[in-house]
Amino acid sequence: MQKPEILYMVVPCYNEEAVLHETAKQLKEKYQSLISRELISKQSRVVFVNDGSKDKTWQIIQELHSEDPEFFSGIDLAHNSGHQNAVLAGLMTVKDICDMAITMDADLQDDINTIDAMVEEYYKGNQVVYGVRSARETDTFFKRFTAESFYKFMKVMGADVVYNHADFRLMSKRVLQELAGFKEVNLFLRGMVPLIGFKSTNVYYERHERFAGESKYPLKKMLAFAINGITSFSVKPLKMITNIGFFTVVVSVLAFIWAFVSKFLGYTELGWSSTICSIWLIGGIQIFCLGIIGEYVGKIYAEVKQRPRFIVAEFLNDTGTESIEKDTEKK
Ligand code: UDP
Ligand code: MG
Repeated sequence: MQKPEILYMVVPCYNEEAVLHETAKQLKEKYQSLISRELISKQSRVVFVNDGSKDKTWQIIQELHSEDPEFFSGIDLAHNSGHQNAVLAGLMTVKDICDMAITMDADLQDDINTIDAMVEEYYKGNQVVYGVRSARETDTFFKRFTAESFYKFMKVMGADVVYNHADFRLMSKRVLQELAGFKEVNLFLRGMVPLIGFKSTNVYYERHERFAGESKYPLKKMLAFAINGITSFSVKPLKMITNIGFFTVVVSVLAFIWAFVSKFLGYTELGWSSTICSIWLIGGIQIFCLGIIGEYVGKIYAEVKQRPRFIVAEFLNDTGTESIEKDTEKK
């Protein structure tokens, strides 16, 4: 059996005073069992990230930390930065002191018992373990419908995400370090992590209802999140403009032929053919030109992101085998 490694949990919290005590209690129990089973090291911790809460969240985190400084840590963000930024802030803060990190919401919707399976998958060599919900029975029909449409729509629009996976996932230190190389401002972690690559797997769990408090993701925010996901991940909408333009030009050529035939057969009013033809043709050319400009905008967008162009997973050279395994042993 390998030496137990250090697990850090990163828990974003925004106005979560109602659930925080319970979350802390349950996580502590879970950690104790993982430590006694020698799955994780005693140096493992839970890090709460306070995302500019307006209630007593930070106060509670401070209390938890002072009662149990070896176990609970806290990060206080200067202002509300949104869920994705809070998660990233936590991950980037712990990336050098842990071997693996799991991100989980504070509201206990994600099943804490899945952590065991995630850690086991990590020891099997997976660098990323995605928590995927197996059922959505506890959701209302509306939430389930909108959420499932979200994943399907994202895929169609070119932002490939793991189906039914939110932000409950384990990442290895190696993956966190590569994540640091993604400099984008509009974060969409569930799209970014698959881009990093490495061996990964899914574990399935049933998502519960919120333990207490209310959702900070109403429909309006969810739509904004979906739009952000698409526009920060793909230039497909721009390509669609080019395609529509091209299609319109083709249709206008057909319309030309049709208009000429109608004219020579004498079915038309005076001026009809020329009007119809110019509307279609000019319209088509305009959309097509917009699309071409869009293609360039898309390229600029990709350049501006300055994402890493490649990530080296292993480096074999004459002095020995530098592998990921060796890398993790060195610490
Ligand atoms: N959250 C955050 N900042 C925000 C909004 C939410 O850190 O601006 C946290 C929140 O405390 C929770 C997680 O993000 O831990 C997910 O939010 P929520 O449970 O409200 O979303 P839902 O599960 O309803 O989609
Ligand atoms: Mg929730």
